[in-house]
Amino acid sequence: MFIRIRRFLPETKVEGPGNRACIWVQGCSIQCPDCAVPESWPTSGGEKVKVEELVQKILNIPNIEGITFSGGEPFDQAESLASLGHIVQEEGLSVVTFTGYTLENIQNSADPGWQDLLSVTDLLIDGPYISGGPDPTNLWVGSCNQRYHFLTSRYLHLKYGISDVSNRIEVRIQEDGSILVNGMTNFSKLEDIFKGIV
Ligand code: SF4
Repeated sequence: MFIRIRRFLPETKVEGPGNRACIWVQGCSIQCPDCAVPESWPTSGGEKVKVEELVQKILNIPNIEGITFSGGEPFDQAESLASLGHIVQEEGLSVVTFTGYTLENIQNSADPGWQDLLSVTDLLIDGPYISGGPDPTNLWVGSCNQRYHFLTSRYLHLKYGISDVSNRIEVRIQEDGSILVNGMTNFSKLEDIFKGIV
């Protein structure tokens, strides 16, 4: 079983609760207008990685509390992600899944892979990207229509306070001097940040 991935980050603090590994999958059949990452749409891009290989990589990372599936569209590879999710969850890690579908779309689907990925997800963040720029007031999300669904008790304690926590980004300066930005923001805000530090 394989997962086609666009990016893997062993640790991030801006893609769900706590310190998490994150897999951005390659391939998205939803294709929201104004998607910020249209390069994630083709199913031919990215890298095909064995589920077992990813499991080993994830379980060897110290001090993470879970894994986040982001996109591309995770439900386009639901069966493989669910398989990975079950294994890491048995080891105590949590699963956060972002999707451009809505919870209702998924619940009404007859696809067993979709139901399996839903069943292994502790926190689902759903809905397509609707242009207007990232919503800076909503933690982790790209647009204000997107919703948090606490599907297990794992993060239920966050349910009523989540709107009080503002969104944030991570800026990583690589050894070669290149800069990686992770999380949700808009370009004008980024310019402001870099003006302050350069
Ligand atoms: S679901 Fe996500 S990756 Fe797919 S088009 Fe919409 S915003 Fe882009």
